Amino acid sequence: MDNILTSRRYKNECTVVDLKTCRIGDGSLAIIAGPCAVESMDQMIYLAGLFKKTGVSIIRGGAYKPRTSPYSFQGLGEEGLRILAAAREQTGLPFVTEVTDVRYIEKVAGYADIIQIGSRNMQNFSLLREAGKSGKPVILKRGFSSTLEEWLSAAEYIAAEGNNKIIFCERGIRTFEGYTRNTMDISAIPAIKELSHFPIIADPSHGTGRRSLVGPLAKAAVAAGSDGVMLEVHENPPRALSDGAQSLYPSELESLVPALQVLHAACSSLRKTAV
Ligand code: PEP
Ligand code: MN
Repeated sequence: MDNILTSRRYKNECTVVDLKTCRIGDGSLAIIAGPCAVESMDQMIYLAGLFKKTGVSIIRGGAYKPRTSPYSFQGLGEEGLRILAAAREQTGLPFVTEVTDVRYIEKVAGYADIIQIGSRNMQNFSLLREAGKSGKPVILKRGFSSTLEEWLSAAEYIAAEGNNKIIFCERGIRTFEGYTRNTMDISAIPAIKELSHFPIIADPSHGTGRRSLVGPLAKAAVAAGSDGVMLEVHENPPRALSDGAQSLYPSELESLVPALQVLHAACSSLRKTAV
């Protein structure tokens, strides 16, 4: 069965997701930054200050973490949501956080400005439907073994509930390569733009798993037409409770954001004149 509501054939004009303080898909570049998992109030108050002065548009942070091992840190739960709300209060910036289970959707939607459906849940169809019903903007990450067609069908579940605030997020797929945690599929960015009217952002943190590769792949994503980038940042990455190896140091974020903005401006004017 063909996808309808998500397809470019159905709607040719790009959909813009409006978050009041920023818009995703209108030709601007959204910068989403934050720790993999929210660890403490002190951490988020410090990072929120950094993000505000760096020009970050949306704060991220996991409160409910989908961890491979049941013995790894699972997130602070509702306490994490309260901390994210405090960071929003401090900065005026919206936040995105992941929902891992239909049982938490009401709670998460009650706090968050954007709901994230993670890679592992991309085909959790009841969760997709509930996220659709929540009416909140949804960042839909690509399943790490999913084709573009499967990804579009997952978005169709959200759209079929009457929710047209969908943002795709390419976060790397599994390949035979082991040096990187995943392989960033840069081609997915222009391909999704051809196939769908919804915006797409890129997450080079999970896409590479290596701090040193996050900047280069963020730039590649911007050059390929990404509407935004999602970056994991930690105040002290070696001590992070999750994903420290791919988390940027604050100083790295401070130099990367202006570089991405310059590149985005250059690529936008190029796109007007070239193919
Ligand atoms: C995340 O963004 O915190 C996350 C778990 O990402 P993914 O679902 O892409 O692995
Ligand atoms: Mn992470």
